[in-house]
Amino acid sequence: MKALVALKLNTMSVENVTIDPPEAGEVLVKMGAVGVCHSDLSVANGTVPMPLPMVLGHEGAGVVEAVGPGVRRVEAGDHVVLSFVPACGECYFCQRHEPHLCTSCTADGLMLDGTSRLRMQGQSIGAMSQLGCMAQYAVVPAISVMQIDRSIPFDRAALLGCGVMTGVGAVTNTAQVKPGATVAVFGCGGVGLAAIQGARVVGARQIIAVDRVDSKLDYARHFGATHTVNAREDPVAAIQAHSGGWGVDYSFEFTGNAVVMDQAYRAARRGGTVCIVGVGRGSDSLALNACAFAPEAKTVLGCYYGNANFRVDMPNMLALYQAKRLDLDAMITRTYRLDDAVRAFEDMEAGLNARGVIVLD
Ligand SMILES: [Zn+2]
Ligand SMILES: [Zn+2]
Repeated sequence: MKALVALKLNTMSVENVTIDPPEAGEVLVKMGAVGVCHSDLSVANGTVPMPLPMVLGHEGAGVVEAVGPGVRRVEAGDHVVLSFVPACGECYFCQRHEPHLCTSCTADGLMLDGTSRLRMQGQSIGAMSQLGCMAQYAVVPAISVMQIDRSIPFDRAALLGCGVMTGVGAVTNTAQVKPGATVAVFGCGGVGLAAIQGARVVGARQIIAVDRVDSKLDYARHFGATHTVNAREDPVAAIQAHSGGWGVDYSFEFTGNAVVMDQAYRAARRGGTVCIVGVGRGSDSLALNACAFAPEAKTVLGCYYGNANFRVDMPNMLALYQAKRLDLDAMITRTYRLDDAVRAFEDMEAGLNARGVIVLD
């Protein structure tokens, strides 16, 4: 089959890959659509270290083709979304209702039993997030799939497996933004745009979007931003000017840039909440002033996968989509063939899309 492979640092291409049948507790999925997410690029360029070669893709939806022994959650023919974090239901975190931190989620590219189902030129290779779904087929853990209604298009559904879940979840689950609140969103890629939608859905009265790219600020306005700030001007001063001089109730960071994280911290009002969602380089730090931190009384939250309990949150978000309150249609600004996957990532880096999606036959 064809798959997008990160061959070595900064080198990805569509390659012929052999895929083995599903083992116990695994599901073979014929992919229908796969989102183009910045995290794939972070693996390919080493920002998020994972062993290469690795099949990329961690935001997908498709049809179950076959199941391995012991799988009862789904059967052949079911339509499913893949979650880039599995939920085993049994580990320390799952038992404490924090399945977004499930210990089954690993960065080694291997299945839960420590082996791989993927080979390239005879060599075993990894699958990103145990999915590796930017491919015609993927063998994935059954604890990573969520069955969905057949009426929901794969390209819309795929977005729930990473970006939309993370962005909306950051607002609704992690920060728990209240109706009438003021919100700033730093970074208007797919995840930031989803957060803007989340803030709109929960009834934030002011949503200030910040980005360097004017076309992304146009998207931000479409999805519910009430104000936009081009980051080339001082965004903290602009946000304070828009929000009564003291900053916003909730400030979200989606770029993974430590300078922007600091801006997001400063843009929150005294006693406000700062939610850091972007993943930066391991060599960068976010400094908190030892004198100001306590008197400013801000809450700083790290956010992974929008604190999602995906078995609950995916159906909820699909219901919002079907009720036309969550706009997944407009999130997809361009679709690509798998053969054009490398260009899809180039377009993402150029800031051309709200979300690009690879669509398969
Ligand atoms: Zn992602
Ligand atoms: Zn778990």
